Amino acid sequence: MNIAFAYDHLNALCFGNQLRPVTLRLTPWIVNEYDERLAGAWVEADWAIAIDRALLDHPQLLFGVLLHEMVHQAVHQAGNPAGHGPFFCAAAARAVAPLGLPAPTPTTASTWPVPVARELLGEM
Ligand SMILES: [Zn+2]
Repeated sequence: MNIAFAYDHLNALCFGNQLRPVTLRLTPWIVNEYDERLAGAWVEADWAIAIDRALLDHPQLLFGVLLHEMVHQAVHQAGNPAGHGPFFCAAAARAVAPLGLPAPTPTTASTWPVPVARELLGEM
C-alpha cells in the first residue's frame, strides 16, 4: 500500500481535504510516554504521523490506524485538546459519516476503528 496515496484519499473522502500535509513515517518502533508499544501515533511536534511498518503486511489495519491518527491531526488542527475524549469522538464521527462506518465511543476510541493485536507488532 502506498501510504501517501492512502492519506490523500482519506483526506479527500473523510476530511474534505482540510488536513494540512504531514510527514508520514513508517517505523519499526513506536512507544508512548509509558513505554507501551503503539501501532501508530500523531506526532504534533513534528507535524507527522508514524505508523508501525509491521502493518504493511496488513493493509486494512494500516488503513484503520492511519485514519485514527488523521482524526488526532484534525482535532489538533482545530485547536482542541488531545486524547480520545469528546473532541476525538466527534471528529471521528464526522470523518466516517461518508463511509458509513461506526463512530467511536469513549470506551472504544483508543483502539477505534479496529484494534491491532499487540503480537502483530512483534516483540518488545
Ligand atoms: Zn489515538
